[in-house]
Amino acid sequence: MIRIAFDHSYARDLPGAYEPTQPDTPLSPKLLYWNAALAAELGLDTANAGEAELAAVFSGAALPDGAQTIAQAYAGHQFGGLSPALGDGRAMLLGEVIDTAGQRRDIAFKGSGPTPFSRRGDGKAAVGPMLRELILGEAMQALGIPTTRALAVAATGETVHRERPLPGAVLTRVAASHLRVGTFQYFAIRGERDMLQKLADYTIARHYPQLAGADKRYLELLQAVSERQAELIARWMHAGFIHGVMNTDNMALSGETIDYGPCAFMDAHHPDTVFSSIDRNGRYAYSNQPAIAQWNLARLAETLLPLIAPDDPASAVPAATAAIEGFSERYREHWLAQARLKLGLIDAKEGDMELAEDWLTLLAAQGVDHTLAWRYLADAAEGRRAPLAALFPTPEELEPWLLQWLTRLAIKTRRAVDVAAAMRRHSPLYIPRNHLVEEALDAASERGDMDSTLKLLEALRDPFTEREGLQRYALPAAPEVAEGYRTFCGT
Ligand code: AMP
Ligand code: MG
Repeated sequence: MIRIAFDHSYARDLPGAYEPTQPDTPLSPKLLYWNAALAAELGLDTANAGEAELAAVFSGAALPDGAQTIAQAYAGHQFGGLSPALGDGRAMLLGEVIDTAGQRRDIAFKGSGPTPFSRRGDGKAAVGPMLRELILGEAMQALGIPTTRALAVAATGETVHRERPLPGAVLTRVAASHLRVGTFQYFAIRGERDMLQKLADYTIARHYPQLAGADKRYLELLQAVSERQAELIARWMHAGFIHGVMNTDNMALSGETIDYGPCAFMDAHHPDTVFSSIDRNGRYAYSNQPAIAQWNLARLAETLLPLIAPDDPASAVPAATAAIEGFSERYREHWLAQARLKLGLIDAKEGDMELAEDWLTLLAAQGVDHTLAWRYLADAAEGRRAPLAALFPTPEELEPWLLQWLTRLAIKTRRAVDVAAAMRRHSPLYIPRNHLVEEALDAASERGDMDSTLKLLEALRDPFTEREGLQRYALPAAPEVAEGYRTFCGT
C-alpha cells in the first residue's frame, strides 16, 4: 500500500475556493513514467510499490489513503478576454505533502476526468500532451528554472476524442502550489472581499512568509510576486522558452512555470517566434512575454486594491501602479545579470546591455540557432571561432561584434578555459528540441514506446555537460522541418 502523508491546508483554509470531485476509474491503467527522483525528494514511501500499484494510484483507479480530491476555482483572462469562472476542468488536487526540504508541495492529477468546472470539456488528457508536460518540465528543472514537475504519467487504456482518437493519460503534477492570478480574479469579480483576504493571507503564508503580519503586506505581496515573475521571465527569455498561453490562470503566484500546453523552445532566434496554433495574433510571442507578464501582474494588482486600501481602494492605485511599473526595471536587471553570466563577464560595465542586445539582434538577422550560438560562444572565448561562425550564413557579419565582445571580455587575468567553462554552465547544449519532443511523443502515443522519451529525458537531465553519444540531442532540426512547427493546446 502506498502511503502518502497528505495535508489539506488549501481545503481547510479556503472553503469556497474549490468543489469536491472524484477521478474517473480508468479501465486498464499502465504506468508510462515514474519520477523516482522526485518521489524521493517528496519523501514518498514508494520504494516497495510495484508498477501495477503505482499505475493504479497515479491514474486515479485507487486513490491513496488520505487523498481529498478537489477542483480549485479560478477565473482568468484568456488571450485578453475575461472568463469569470474557469476552474480545474481537467485537474484535481489530491492534497499537499511536506517534502524533504520542508517545503509544502501540491500533488494533483491532470486528465483524470470531469469536475464541476469542466463545462463542455471531457476532463481528459491524451498521452502526447502529458508527456510533453513531463519532458518540458524536467528540462526546465534541469536548467534551474522554477517549474511544476511530473511525478507520474499513466496511460488510462481509454481513448480520448480530439481532432482524432488518441490514447488517454493522467499526469500527476507536483507544484509549489496551484495559486494563480486567476484565483484572485475569481473572488475579486464576485466582490468577495473576505475570501480575497483569506486567499492573500494564505498565499503569503505559503510563498512569502516573511511578509506575514507586515502592515503593508498586500502591497508587498504584489511586489514580491512581481519580483519572482521578473526573474522567471528573464530565465525563460534566455532559455529561448515560449510558454504559449500566458493567460492569467496560467501564471502561478509561487513563481513556478506552470501549464505546459503549447509551449516550446525556439531554434533560430527571432523575437516574433510563436508556436501555438491558437495564438493567431502573436499575443504570446517570444518577445512579448515580459510585457504580458506585466499585464497579468496588473490584473493581480486590481484584485488587491481593496486589500491594500480597504476604505478607499482607488487610493491604492498609485502604489500598485508603481509596483507594476517596477517590474520592467527588475526584469531588465535580471535579464542583464543572466546575460553577463552567459557572456562570460564577471563584472558590470556600462554598455553590457547593448552588447547583449546587439548579439541577439545579430542572431535574429542571421536566423541563427539561439541555443547553439550561446553555447559556441564559449568556444570562441577559447579562441575556437569555427563552430560559432559555421552557424552564420554570412560569418563576416559576426566579426565586428565578436571583436567588441572579446575586448570587453579582456581575458588577461583569467584563463580562457575557465571563462569558457563558466559560460557553459549558463548556456545549455541540450534543450527539448521540437523535433525530438515530437519524435518521442509520437513513439509513445502511437506505439506505446517510451524509449525515445526516456532517452531524451536522459539527455536533458544534465543540459550543461557535453556527453558522448548525445550529438543528435544537441542539433536543431533541418530548417524545413523547423519552419512550420506548430503546437496545440492538447485540450
Ligand atoms: P488551459 O488552457 O489548459 O490552461 O485550460 C484553460 C481552462 O480550460 C481551464 O479551466 C481548464 O481546466 C479547462 N480545460 C482544458 N481542457 C479541458 C478538458 N479537456 N476538459 C475540461 N476542461 C478543460
Ligand atoms: Mg491552465
